[in-house]
Amino acid sequence: MLMNMKELLAVANENNFAVPAFNISDYSMFNGIMEASEEKNAPVIIAIHPDELSHISDEMVQGIRARIHKSPVPAVIHLDHGGSFAQVIEAIQAGFTSVMIDASTKPYEENIAVCQKVVEAAHAVNVSVEGELGTIGNIDSTETGANDILYTDPQQAKDFIEKTGIDCLAIAIGTSHGIYPKDKKPELRIDVLDEIKKVVTAPLVLHGGSSNKDSEIAKSVEHGVNKINISSDIKAAYYKKMREVLQDEGLREPNQIQPPCMAAMKEVAYQKIELFQADGKAALY
Ligand SMILES: [Zn+2]
Repeated sequence: MLMNMKELLAVANENNFAVPAFNISDYSMFNGIMEASEEKNAPVIIAIHPDELSHISDEMVQGIRARIHKSPVPAVIHLDHGGSFAQVIEAIQAGFTSVMIDASTKPYEENIAVCQKVVEAAHAVNVSVEGELGTIGNIDSTETGANDILYTDPQQAKDFIEKTGIDCLAIAIGTSHGIYPKDKKPELRIDVLDEIKKVVTAPLVLHGGSSNKDSEIAKSVEHGVNKINISSDIKAAYYKKMREVLQDEGLREPNQIQPPCMAAMKEVAYQKIELFQADGKAALY
């Protein structure tokens, strides 16, 4: 069941759960995530970063659409961290149902201007838009971000949503992209989340959800986050298993190598789906 993010997250917002946005960059990962979501009867967001899109090619999005059309669970194909108006338009042409425009490192007025432009184009063809305010820390260099986290200002969040017309907002409350090094201890500012929630009705998004403590993530869901991005955690499980599998030097067929990796990745996906209280929630759509 293919839909856009506005439709998908409205139900999550009303029923107080979060939908996992899993980043995928090949077909077996995508298929594994769809299987895990179907087994848990959970809505899902298929997130694809521009670097991932150039790896899989625009054409594969048609295959992803076809697979989702056959699925009983609601799903969104979402461009993660679109970096420019052109990248967003390319994604819409390729068949995405939702796009993120991330101009959070630009000055505030510039962030508003580019979001307005994207919203006008995307909404014209029923594609939803995610914007970002504040900076999410960055540990690996594949995504945008800063070394220090700038927390989202609640009043600015309200103003930003009103001026841009975006459908959901990525907020900075203390997460970082990637898996944290041992000396870095992430701590979520639930008090900042509460302040934002008081003045904003649009669904809120948490990026950099890999390797935060489960108890903190659970708390963020209880306090109103409706979408949580997971990338590193599922990929780490997939490739850890692949390294083991490839110890057998005689193996060369992807259909022998990839299934155990998908199974290991699915274990992580099940755990996230449950942690976000998304299991069984496909029934609400
Ligand atoms: Zn992100």
